[in-house]
Order: sequence, then structure tokens, then C-alpha cells
Amino acid sequence: MAQKKFKTEVAELLQLIIHSLYSHKEIFLRELVSNSSDALDKLKYLSLTDDALKGISFEPRIDISFTEEGKKRTLTISDNGLGMNEEDLGENLGTIASSGTKKFLASLSDEQKKDSNLIGQFGVGFYSAFMVSERVDVISRRAGDEQAWKWSSTGKGSYSLEEGERESHGTTITLTLSEEGSEFANRWQIEQLVKKYSDHIAYPIFLSYDQTTYDDKKKDSEGNAVKKVEHKVEQINSSSALWRRPKNELTDEQYNEFYKQTTYDSEEPLFYLHTRAEGATEYITLFYIPTKAPFDMYYADYRPGVKLYVKRVYITDDDKELLPSYLRFVRGIIDSEDLPLNVSREILQQNRVMSAIRNASVKKLLGEFSKISEQNPELYTKFIAEYNRPLKEGLYSDYANRDALLELVRFKSSSQEGWTSLASYKERMPADQKSIYYITGGKEETLKASPLLAAYRTRGLEVLIMSDDIDDLVVGSIGTYQEIPLKAINKSGAVDDLKEEGEKEEKATKEEKALIKKIKKALGDRVKDVVASTRLVDAPAVVVVDENDPTVQMQQLLKAMGQANFEDTKPILEVNVDDPMVQKIAASDDKEFIADLSVVLLDQALLAEGVMPKDPVTFTRKLHSLLSR
Ligand code: ADP
Repeated sequence: MAQKKFKTEVAELLQLIIHSLYSHKEIFLRELVSNSSDALDKLKYLSLTDDALKGISFEPRIDISFTEEGKKRTLTISDNGLGMNEEDLGENLGTIASSGTKKFLASLSDEQKKDSNLIGQFGVGFYSAFMVSERVDVISRRAGDEQAWKWSSTGKGSYSLEEGERESHGTTITLTLSEEGSEFANRWQIEQLVKKYSDHIAYPIFLSYDQTTYDDKKKDSEGNAVKKVEHKVEQINSSSALWRRPKNELTDEQYNEFYKQTTYDSEEPLFYLHTRAEGATEYITLFYIPTKAPFDMYYADYRPGVKLYVKRVYITDDDKELLPSYLRFVRGIIDSEDLPLNVSREILQQNRVMSAIRNASVKKLLGEFSKISEQNPELYTKFIAEYNRPLKEGLYSDYANRDALLELVRFKSSSQEGWTSLASYKERMPADQKSIYYITGGKEETLKASPLLAAYRTRGLEVLIMSDDIDDLVVGSIGTYQEIPLKAINKSGAVDDLKEEGEKEEKATKEEKALIKKIKKALGDRVKDVVASTRLVDAPAVVVVDENDPTVQMQQLLKAMGQANFEDTKPILEVNVDDPMVQKIAASDDKEFIADLSVVLLDQALLAEGVMPKDPVTFTRKLHSLLSR
């Protein structure tokens, strides 16, 4: 029997696959099953379109069997698909169709080669069988041909090709398992792998195995239970790629059941979105929004919720690039027709197709959220309660969809119950209001109780309560909404807001100037500045921060996160000169009294922001001494 040499690149590819994917050798089964499925697809198509094959009728199926006993363990995967003739076998299994494959694998660094996601995503095809086999035999008969052919190789540089026997069309691949692969000659292993990777292959996959039972009632001559071996054939995949079925054939129950089965979430999803895209890139997406945000949504090492399939073949569930990270709460499936399952195409093309799917999916999802916000406010409220924050992340990470995201995010407000959108804030704005006001940097209750907020509320100005810890970052990236600037009322730039809003500017009197100077002197370097306030109503003083400084609470957050290496930024104390307590400072020239009262003024303003006084003991002592005077 003639031995034929593999083309050099096949030999190299084999080496690369065996070494780089070794820790994920189980994927060979996915690859072989997927090839069978392709062969069934092809024959199905030809039986409808090709004159020579039109008459053929067949029940597409894939069969897996194994031998556990004897010297050598084997695993056999068989299909009744199109099959291969002599030439096909030599060409398909002796060469690599695309030179891109080799280039791709060669371009990966050693580090990348270990990253099975990277490679696993592409699939590695037939040759992966050699990761688990010391010998592979392929017997194939092409539909319409009389003759079958047998291809055999040990994967060591050459293969043989000779006439073989097969009853009808299709391909049977027998793996003589190596030591590394012997674990796969096992019923549970095979079932588990098929469930994991090939459950949604459109054709039934049958596993045949021998089941041994012992009959206790019948004893043999030595008193042992009689052993009975039964041969069984069982379908092990569900072969129902639900997402491939037309929407109008599916019920909510079916969608929800599928969600529960695939995500192990016991609750039904909040809603789902099923899309079939045809045209330049063909793919199907089925996305679910869980009712409760995934527990690991805020972990850096969260598990992505979207699985990638290529033509129903599972590729990966661990690719964080399938959707942008701010949509990491989305669960579901992307099934592409155009992505290569094997490394037979350039990585470049992979990127192009994938990014087209990704971009379109983001648009679809945001569009659906928007639709729900308009048509089903109740549902949208539930959605926002869970996912407002990740959407806000999108505002600074996804510039292309910023406008859509701006309409989707919600805030609390000083004048509204529940959530409000920027659009509805704008609608409520009096015609002459110049800015959209907001306050950041604390818990909702703290912010709502802020004396500054009271000042705006009294004047009929609505303030957005931005109490999420990322709001400071987010709002900076918003800047303006429909050309209206967003202004923080607790930043120095807002001190003059109310003047802008048409309030008369009152010239500070000589006395006021002297008072401010007194307090400033007393507080020394604890503050950046002390200013007289025109906006405070019922509080003696508030702290604001310089326009570009982080808010007081933000500074605390940064410290808590271990980022203590920034200089403490000092607050600006805004003083209500009409307040009786402040008036006491004006009226006094007792240095100690002025100093104590000024410190208490600052510390209580910080307290109102939820910030503990630097030195609580001194603060209470001073407060006590003041109160007893
Ligand atoms: P790919 O599937 O990406 O083409 P493979 O190395 O897995 O790469 O397979 C090479 C070729 O061998 C396939 O394209 C197909 O033509 C042929 N082939 C593999 N397995 C089968 C099979 N079970 N039935 C028919 N043809 C097959």
C-alpha cells in the first residue's frame, strides 16, 4: 500500500495543534461532529438541487460508538452525509485548503497559543483528532459512487489511501485512541461533550453502548448475580437549535424554557430579542435580559453571557468581545453563518464579520430598550433598576452609541418621584433656564438633604440626583444634552448659577468681606477658599469643590479603592452670610470663639455631605464648648 506524504504545511499544522491545544484536546469531538453535520448539510442540499443526486432519500444522522475493552480503545464517528471519493480524501485530508491557516497559527505567540479561547474559537478541524489518537482511519463513500475508500494515518507525516468497504454513502472515522485520548472511550464523557458542544446540531447524534446489568434473582453456579449485557442506541443531543426556528412558531414559554435551560437561571427573563439578519452577513441572535442582574456583573472577571455558535456549532461562551462590556448582563446566543469554524480563513476576516455582528447587535439591543421605555414604562422601570449603571458605563465607553444611551439612562430628581430621563427633565425646564442642574457625590438621601439642593428647589429649579458612584465620571463625558450644558451645583462653577438664572447680583458689603476674611483666616489651609453665598436658604454653610476637583465623596471613594496617592483636594466653603450662627462670627472679636465656630461651621458642612470630621474628638469638644457658652 502506497504511503503518501502530507504537504509540509499539514505536518506543521499538526504539530502546532497538538502542542497548542493540548489542554483542550476534548474539542476534537466537536470538530468531527461538526464536519459530519456539514457533510449532511451538503448532501441535503444536493439531494434537492443536483440532478445526479435528486433521487436520493436518507435520514440524516450521526452515530458515535466506542470500544472500552480490549487492547486498544477506539472511538468511531459516523455519518450518512455526502462522503468523499478518492480524490476528495487526498485533497481534503492531505492538504490545508487555505494557506492562511498556517500563517494564522504561526503568527500567534507562545502565550497566545496557550489561550485556548483564541484558538478554540476558530476550530481546528479534522486534524485535531490526532491530539487523542495514535491512528485515524477514515472510510468514506461519496453519494452516487459505488466505491468506498479508506484513508489511514498515524499523523506522523504520511497517510495511505486504498479501496475500502462501506454499505452506503457517508463517512466513518475511527480513532484508535492514544494514552492521552483513552478517557474518551467512555459513555459519560461522550454524552457530556456532545451536550456541551454539539447539543444544537440540527441532526440527531446517536450513541451506542453496551449496558451491563446484574440480575440478583438469578445466580450462577458460584452464587454470583447473572450478568446481562444489552446493546443500546440513544440520541444524546436535543438537536433543536431553537433560535433557528422562525419567531412565529415559538411561544413565550418555549423562549423562557430555553433561557432557563441554557443559563441555569431559575427566574424567567425580563424580556428577549430574537433577530435573524440576512444579507451581507448572515446570522441569528437570541438575546435575553435576566430579571435580576447577574451576580458577577461588577466583578472584573465576570463571565460573559453570550455564546457564539457557527452554523449551530458551539464555539465559545467565554469571549468578552462578543458584546461591549457595558452589555455584559445580556444572555443568549449569536449564531453566525459566515464565521469560519476552522482556522481555514484569515483572522482579519474573522474580525470584520464579528465586528459587523457586534455593532448590529448593540444597535438592536439599544433599539429594543428604547422601544420598551416608550411602550412599557413599567417593564422599563424594572430594567433600569437593574441595569442603569452598566448603561451609564456605555456613555463613556461607547461613543458611537452615546446619543442612544443618553436617552436610555435614568436619574433621580429633586422634583420627581422615581426615575427621570434627560428628555423629560428638558421638557419640564422653564423656558429661560440655562442649564441642566445635577448634584453628585453621595448617597441619594444625603444628596436630597443637601442645603444646596434646597436652594435650587426653593427657586423652582429641578436638580438631578446623581448618586451612582460612577456618575461623576459619566456626567463628565456627557457635557451637554441637546446643547444644554450640565452643571454640578456642588462645584465652584455653580456658585454664580443662580445669578445666571436671573437673580440680581448683590454687591458684597464691606462687613461681609471682613467676615469672610475672618473665617478664612481661622480655617487656614483646611480650605481652598471661603466665599459668600447668595443661594443658601436654610443652612449656615456648604462645601463645594473646585470645578475640576473630584467631589468630597468621590475622594473618599478613590481612597477606599486604594488610590490614596492623589493629593487631598481641599473644599471651598460657601457661607450663608445671613445665617444667625455666621452672624455671631461677624459680631465677635474673641479669637478663640471665632476659630472654634469656623471649624464647626466647616465640619458640620462636611458632615452634611456624609464626610466624617477629620478629628471627631476635637469637633465634639469644640461643639460642646460652643453650646455651653
Ligand atoms: P474544514 O472543515 O474547515 O474544511 P477539516 O480539516 O475539518 O477542515 O476538513 C477538511 C475537509 O474534509 C472538509 O472541508 C470536508 O470537505 C472534508 N471532510 C471532513 N470530514 C468529513 C465528513 N465527515 N464527511 C465528508 N467530508 C468531510
